[in-house]
Amino acid sequence: MTEVKHMKWWGWGDDGIAFEHRDKPAFAPFVRKAIGLDVTAPAATARPFDALDVPESHLDPALRDELAGIVGAEHVHTDTMSRVVHTFGKSIRDLLRVRSGTLERTPDVVVYPGDEDEVQRLVDAAVAANAVVIPFGGGTNISGSLEPATDEERGVVSLDLGRLNQVLDVDEDSGLARIQAGAQGPDLERQLGEHGWTLGHFPDSFAHSTLGGWVATRSSGMQSDKYGDIADIVRGFRLVRPGGVVTIRPIPSTSTGPSVREMVVGSEGRLGVITEATVHVHRIPEVREIFGYLFPSWEAGLAAMRDIAESDASPSVTRVSDARETAFSFATRTASKKKITSLGSQALMALLRRRGWDLDQVCLSFIGYEGSASHVKYEKKLVKRIVGKHGGIGLGRGPGELYDQKKFDTPYIRDFLLDRGAAADVSETAAPWSKLRQLYEHTVAAAHSAYDDLGVQGWIMCHLSHSYHSGACLYFTFAFVHGEEPLKQYDHVKSAIQQAFIDAGGTLSHHHAVGVEHAPWLAQDISPEGVALMRGLFESADPRSNFNPDKII
Ligand code: FAD
Repeated sequence: MTEVKHMKWWGWGDDGIAFEHRDKPAFAPFVRKAIGLDVTAPAATARPFDALDVPESHLDPALRDELAGIVGAEHVHTDTMSRVVHTFGKSIRDLLRVRSGTLERTPDVVVYPGDEDEVQRLVDAAVAANAVVIPFGGGTNISGSLEPATDEERGVVSLDLGRLNQVLDVDEDSGLARIQAGAQGPDLERQLGEHGWTLGHFPDSFAHSTLGGWVATRSSGMQSDKYGDIADIVRGFRLVRPGGVVTIRPIPSTSTGPSVREMVVGSEGRLGVITEATVHVHRIPEVREIFGYLFPSWEAGLAAMRDIAESDASPSVTRVSDARETAFSFATRTASKKKITSLGSQALMALLRRRGWDLDQVCLSFIGYEGSASHVKYEKKLVKRIVGKHGGIGLGRGPGELYDQKKFDTPYIRDFLLDRGAAADVSETAAPWSKLRQLYEHTVAAAHSAYDDLGVQGWIMCHLSHSYHSGACLYFTFAFVHGEEPLKQYDHVKSAIQQAFIDAGGTLSHHHAVGVEHAPWLAQDISPEGVALMRGLFESADPRSNFNPDKII
C-alpha cells in the first residue's frame, strides 16, 4: 500500500479536525445576522462513503499490468476511495458534488511513481495506450483543475506525485534548492528549515498543497509580497513529456524568449508532469512578525496599502479587510480573557469613538515584517508614518499572532457551513491601483444583485491580500443558505462575481488558476487572439489531448 496521506474525501483537511463555534460566542449571532442561518441547530450527518454511487474503473488490463510493471503493483490503486479522492479538488462545486454522490467520472487508476524514471515510463505507457494522464499534487485546487471530463471514453490515469517529496539539494551560494514536485508545504519547510532555509511560500492551503501544484497553478502565498509569487520563486524545473524531459536550468534571468519557463508555470498538467523544481530559498530571518492595525474606513486602508507599496518599506504581508470581513474576524475570536491589544477591547472601542470613528466602518489590517532586527525596526517606522497619515492606529503584535495561529484553520469553516446548508466560497482577482475601489464596489453590487435574483440573504466580504508596484489582489468570500439546487445557485452568484471582475478591469483569478471553473472568462481576460495562441501551443504539444484535457481552454 502506498503511504501518501490525503485529505477527507468530503471536505478540507485531516480527519478529526473541524471548526468549532461553541468557544466563539459572537460567531452564531454573526452568522444569523449575515445569512439568516442558525448554526446552533443540529447539523446534517455526512452521507456514508459506501452510499456514494461511484462508477466502476474501466482500466484496460494490459495497461494496468504495464503500470504495475513500472511502479510495482502496490503503487497502483483502483479502489473506490483512491479514485474518489483523486477526482476533484476542494472547491465548493467539488464538495457539493462529492457529498451528494454526483460522480459521473473518476480516474480509472491512481499510480504513485517513486522517481522521475518511473514518471517517464508511466507517461510513455499511458500515451502509447492513448490514455489520459492527470498529474495530482495535493488535490487542493479550487478551479476544477483535476476532474476528468464526464464523457471521457479513454482510460484516465491519475499520476500522484506524493512519493516524490524530498529536498534534493541546496545551492547555498545561489540561494537555490532543488525540490521534488510532490513535497507538501510542511514537508519541504521542515527539510529546508533543518539547514536554516525557508522557501517563504505559504498559501492558505500550505498544509496540503505541493510544490508541483503551486507551479502548475501559478500560486501565491501569504508572504508573497516579500518572497514573490511562485512564478517569481521557481527558476528551473524538469517536466516529463512523452519520450523526454524538458529541462529548464535555474538561470537568474535570460533573454531566451518566448519563455518556456513561463509556458509551464500555470499549465495545470496540460504540458506534462513536473517532477522537480529549482526554487529561490532564503535564510530564515532573524525576525518574523505580523502587526495589527485599524483604519477608519476601507478607502483609508486601501490608500495606506498603496502608499506602503510605493514606499521604501517592503513588508512580507500587506493585508486589509473591509468592514464586513473585519466584523467576521472579530466574530471568530475565541472567548478569552487575554487582551488582543495592550488597551483591551472596551478601552479600544472607547478610544475609536473619541476619535469620531464609525465603528461599523472600521477595517482591520495585518502587516508582516521579516528580516534583521534593524531592518524590521526601520520598516515598522515607515509603515507607522503611512498608517498615521491615513488616520489608522497600530494594535501591536497581539492580533498578528492570533492571525498567524488561525490562518490554516479558516478553511474548515466552509465544511461547517456546508453541513448546515450554507454554501461559502471565494473568488479573487488583481487589478491596477486606479481601478481597485470601483472593482470592489462593482463586485459587491453584482453579488447582491445575484442574491436578489435567487431570493436569498447573501453575504460578501473582502480583503486586499497582496500588493504590487501597480496594483493589488482583492480576495472576496461569499456565502448564502442554499436551496434544493445549490450548484445552480452557486453558479449564478459566482458568475456574477467573475463577470464583475472582468468588467471592472481585473483578471479572472490572481492565484487560483483557470481550470474549468474560470475558463469561460479567459477570452475576455487575455483576448480571443490570446486564447488562439494558447490553443496552438496545447494542440502542437499534445496532439491527442492526453494531458489533463479541457482545463484552461
Ligand atoms: P492539485 O490540486 O493536485 O493540482 C492542481 C493542478 O496542478 C492540476 O491541474 C494538476 O494536474 C496540476 N499539477 C499538480 N501537480 C503537478 C505536477 N507535478 N506536474 C504538472 N501538473 C501538476 N492557492 C494559492 O495560490 N494561494 C492560497 O493562499 C490558496 N489558499 C487555498 C485555501 C484553500 C482552503 C483551498 C481549498 C485552496 C487554496 N488555494 C490557494 C488553491 C490551491 O491550494 C492551489 O491551487 C495549489 O497550488 C494547488 O496545489 P496542489 O498540490 O493541491 O495541486
